[in-house]
Amino acid sequence: MSAKRAILWLRRDLRLDDHRALAQLLSDGYEPLPVYIHEPEEEQPWAPGAASLCWLHHSLSRLGDDLRALGSDLLLQRGPSLDTLLHLAEQSGAKAVYWHRLYAPAIVERDSRIKAELRKAGLRAESCSGHVLAEPDHLLNNSGGPYRVFTPYWRTLAGRLDDLGEPLPAPKSLPAIPKLAGLALEELGLLPKISWDSGFYDHWQPGETGAHAALQRFAECALKDYADDRDRPDRQGTSALSPHLHFGEISVRRIVAELGANPGAEPYLRELGWRDYSYYLLRHFPETTDQPLNQRFADFDWVEPDFNKLDAWQRGQTGIPIVDAGMRQLWHSGWMHNRVRMIVASLLTKNLRYHWLHGARWFWDTLLDADLASNSQGWQWTAGTGVDAAPYFRIFNPVTQGERFDPDGTYVRRWVPELAKVSNRYVHQPWSDGGVSGYPQPIVDLKRSRAEALDAFKALKKEG
Ligand SMILES: Cc1cc2nc3c(=O)[nH]c(=O)nc-3n(C[C@H](O)[C@H](O)[C@H](O)COP(=O)(O)OP(=O)(O)OC[C@H]3O[C@@H](n4cnc5c(N)ncnc54)[C@H](O)[C@@H]3O)c2cc1C
Repeated sequence: MSAKRAILWLRRDLRLDDHRALAQLLSDGYEPLPVYIHEPEEEQPWAPGAASLCWLHHSLSRLGDDLRALGSDLLLQRGPSLDTLLHLAEQSGAKAVYWHRLYAPAIVERDSRIKAELRKAGLRAESCSGHVLAEPDHLLNNSGGPYRVFTPYWRTLAGRLDDLGEPLPAPKSLPAIPKLAGLALEELGLLPKISWDSGFYDHWQPGETGAHAALQRFAECALKDYADDRDRPDRQGTSALSPHLHFGEISVRRIVAELGANPGAEPYLRELGWRDYSYYLLRHFPETTDQPLNQRFADFDWVEPDFNKLDAWQRGQTGIPIVDAGMRQLWHSGWMHNRVRMIVASLLTKNLRYHWLHGARWFWDTLLDADLASNSQGWQWTAGTGVDAAPYFRIFNPVTQGERFDPDGTYVRRWVPELAKVSNRYVHQPWSDGGVSGYPQPIVDLKRSRAEALDAFKALKKEG
C-alpha cells in the first residue's frame, strides 16, 4: 500500500490532457487511483438520458485504454459515491480525493456533502476548476449580483481569456494502481438492450482522440467560415464538439488555446461563452431546470399537449419539413444543428404552446450532448421564459427559416427522403403545391397558431 496515494474521482472530465485535478494531485506528490463511480440515481430527476449513457459507455472504454497505455488503469464502481469513495480509500490507503467541480444542482448539493464527509473522515478533499472558462462565483456585475444579460457577461469573460493560463499536457506515464475489485464496463449496463444507437457511430468517435480529431477538422476546414456557416444546417459549418465537451473529453481551455489566436475566432469563442453562461445561470438560478427564469411565466397558460401531436413532433412527422428533418437527425445521429434546435423548439413552445419541459425532456433522452445547463437555457431562451431570451413576438417561421438557412433543401432532403423530388420552391412548404403522397399535412396551421400565440403572450405582457 502506498501512503502517497489519492483517488482521482472522474466524472465529466474523461480525458488526460489539461486535466487540472490530475495535475494538482501529481504535483501534491500523490499517486493517482483513477475511479469512475456510476450513480445516476443521485442526479434525479435529471439522471442521464439514454443517448448520453451510450456515449458514456464508449468514452469510459477509451479512457480505460488510454490510462492502461500509460501504465495506470480505470477502476469502475457503482454508487453511492460517498460510501464508495470511503471504502476505496480504506482499501487502497488513499489519503485524498481530487475531482473537477460541476454545476447541476443535485450534483452541487451531493458534492458539498461528500467534501464535508471526506474531511470528517480525515481525508483531504480537493475540488478543482476545469469544466468552464470561469467559475460562476467569480464573475459578478457592478452591484455584486449575477449577470442576467449575456452581452455584459461575455464582455467581462472575454476580457479574462488571456489570463486562463497554458493548458497542461497529458502525463507521459502513470504509476500502476493496486489490485482492487472493480466492475467490468458492461456491468454498468449503459448500452441499450436493442441497439437503436447503431446509427450514432457513423457520425461520432467518442473519447479524447475523437475530440481532438473533431477540433482539428474544425480548425482546418470550418473555423474561417464559422461566422457565415454556423447557421447553415446544410453545411458542416460547426465544430460538433458538444458531446465531447459535455463529457470533458477535451477541455474548453484547450480549445481556446488552439483556436483563440486565429483570425475570425471571435464568433466561435462567443459560443463557448454561451456554454459558460449556461453553467453560470444554472449555478446562480438552480431552479431553472424546471421553473421559468422570468417569473412572469410562472402561471402562463400552456396548452395541455395533444399526445398525437407531441408524438408527431418527436418522430419527425409534423408535416413541416425543416422540423421533421431536425427531429429525424436527432433520432438517427443523436445530435441536431443549433439553428434547427431553435426552430423545432419554437414550433413546440410557441405555435403549439406546449410547456418547454415537454421538449427539454425529449432532448434530454435523445441528445448525445444532453447537458442540463445548455438544454435548460436553450429551451428557456427559445420559449421566451429566460432572462435575455428570444422575446415573445419572436416566433420562428419554419418555412422562411428553411428557405434562408437551407436554401436548396439539401438538409431537408437528406433527412426527409419523401421530399427528395420536390422542387426547391416547395421543399420547405410542400402543402402549397398540393402536398406529397406519403408525407403528412402540417399538424398545425402556422399562421393561425402564430396569431394565437401572440395574443396569449400579449395578455401575459399586460398582466406583468
Ligand atoms: C432548445 C435547445 C437545446 C439545447 N440543448 C443543448 C444541450 O443539451 N447540450 C449542449 O451542449 N447544447 C445544447 N444547445 C446549444 C447548441 O445547440 C449546441 O451546443 C450546439 O448545437 C452544439 O453543436 P456544435 O458543437 O457543433 O456547436 P458549435 O457551434 O461548434 O459551438 C461550439 C460549442 O459552444 C457551445 N455552444 C454553442 N452554442 C451554444 C448555446 N446556444 N448554448 C450553450 N452552449 C453553446 C457548445 O458547447 C458547442 O459545442 C441547445 C440549444 C437549444 C436551442
